[in-house]
Amino acid sequence: MDRFISADEYKRRVMIIDDEEINRLMLGNILETEYEVVFAKDGQEAWDLLHGEEKDISLLLLDLLMPVMNGFELISKLNEDDELKSIPVIVMTSEKEAEVKSIKLGASDFITKPYDMPEVILARCERIIKLSEETTLIHSTEKDAVTGLFTRDYFFEYIRQIEAHHNSSVDALVFNIDHFHLVNEMYGRKTGDSVLVRVANTLEEVLKEKEIISCRTEADTFYVLCEHIDDYTPFIAKIQELLGNASGSSKIRLRAGIYQEAAKDMEVELRFDRAKIACDRIRGDYSRTVAYYNNELYQKSIYHERLIRDVDDAIANEDFKVFFQPKYDITSDTPKLRSAEALIRWQHPELGMISPGDFIPLFESNGLIQKVDNYVWKTAASQIRKWKEKYNYSVAVSVNVSRIDIFDPTLQDKLRTILEENGLDASELMLEITESAYADSANTLTEVAESLRASGFKIEMDDFGSGYSSLNMITTLPIDVLKLDMKFVRNMEKDEKSLKLVELIIDIAKFLDVPVVAEGVETKSQLDTLKDLGCQVIQGYYFSKPVPADEFEQFIEKELK
Ligand code: C2E
Ligand code: CA
Ligand code: CA
Repeated sequence: MDRFISADEYKRRVMIIDDEEINRLMLGNILETEYEVVFAKDGQEAWDLLHGEEKDISLLLLDLLMPVMNGFELISKLNEDDELKSIPVIVMTSEKEAEVKSIKLGASDFITKPYDMPEVILARCERIIKLSEETTLIHSTEKDAVTGLFTRDYFFEYIRQIEAHHNSSVDALVFNIDHFHLVNEMYGRKTGDSVLVRVANTLEEVLKEKEIISCRTEADTFYVLCEHIDDYTPFIAKIQELLGNASGSSKIRLRAGIYQEAAKDMEVELRFDRAKIACDRIRGDYSRTVAYYNNELYQKSIYHERLIRDVDDAIANEDFKVFFQPKYDITSDTPKLRSAEALIRWQHPELGMISPGDFIPLFESNGLIQKVDNYVWKTAASQIRKWKEKYNYSVAVSVNVSRIDIFDPTLQDKLRTILEENGLDASELMLEITESAYADSANTLTEVAESLRASGFKIEMDDFGSGYSSLNMITTLPIDVLKLDMKFVRNMEKDEKSLKLVELIIDIAKFLDVPVVAEGVETKSQLDTLKDLGCQVIQGYYFSKPVPADEFEQFIEKELK
């Protein structure tokens, strides 16, 4: 099969630099059998060509005595050029002294004029080229011990060398395993390693026709350079299928980010950075397994970098605002204020108001969420205390706890400290954890939730019905409140199926003996329907949007009348 990969197959380009035409012709004749030959008639012309269209030269054959710029001058200029200094040079001379001088300057070898032994010349060229390519590679010729794929350094070096001699169009692919850290955490490193091997093998198997080279970079990230393919969908589907079928302790799901047909002069690392941006973008999005990099993504990634950079300032300057949205108990005739949910907003000094949907998923993907959540918890707790002091009335507030927070071993201590600092009881600061977090990491989450409950915290399962928890799992979950996912409320009046699901979920809650909070309730008729079905608590625009603390006080005051 005609594969792109073989480094031995293509003709390398060599440059002959000599001011005498007869010498150029003779040497050219010899070398043309093995190489593509480029000519320059002095050092200056060679220098210009190397910086211009002749970027992929494997060897220079250099005469020393030439007008304009002689061979010595060219060698020392090349030595100062980071990119060009790695091109090996063979000096062509008839003087012993010049040989020594040029080797000292950095030439790799020499050929003596006149050129009467073509085989010797060819052999020397071949040896020098091989040696030079190997030394660049040798520095990084390690294979990844776990998967047997190449290492990142080798991978990039290989691509640079292969591309210098090849022109077909290629794509950069980045693969990442969803929630790989959980595999390690739950099943141990050995299982983790075997998952990596399985992924590496599957990638090679499915992409083998098109793959040029692949490597593993960080723990669970794989890079693949492929000959261009328009549509990767069937390949990715095949990969998922193979990984899904493999029996084992956990399901493996891969995400792919792809940067297609990059310009040849674009740095290899940059192409893979872009593919990675595309890949990161669909992290946590269960509906997508492939993302292609495009300009919109580029703009978005710039925006994201900005947000990441500004987090510390935002905390220091109190640009993060905590809003409160009331939850009402509707079991009696007049709705009664039951609690509130704390929701963050970012009042950015230059970018304006940013909604959490634009930065929470981003901060979840890089761990910054812990800082931000901690800030929200503190602010919410201190607000509860202020209201207690002002009204002698306790409004319980739920805060959102991200799935990332769950893995923080100091979570419990952090929350305890916040309570103590504000003289609050654990029942006053409730914790909302999204259902999909349970599905991702059932064991850890169950343990953490259990111990939080043991110390008095109330756990609300957020967005219930959006995740993947099985009925079997639900019955064993340690929760105190079930929050119905907003989309059921939205669709309830439009389709019968959603209505049936709401009924079912309310039944499940009854079985578990926990109350149901319906959020996103905007109309009276939604409220009535939910009430008829037995839902006890309502949150939504029908009562109020999330509002700043001072505006929230109207709800407290109304309650106290
Ligand atoms: P969530 O926890 O499910 O919060 C409910 C979202 O629904 C809020 O959006 C709220 O403003 C919105 N909402 C409430 N009532 C209605 C309604 O009647 N109609 C409609 N259309 N929407 C309504 P928001 O504030 O934009 O927050 C979005 C998500 O961001 C939250 O979803 C939560 O997952 C996350 N989030 C917000 N604040 C925090 C935080 O402090 N920490 C963490 N980790 N996540 C947060
Ligand atoms: Ca929530
Ligand atoms: Ca929710």
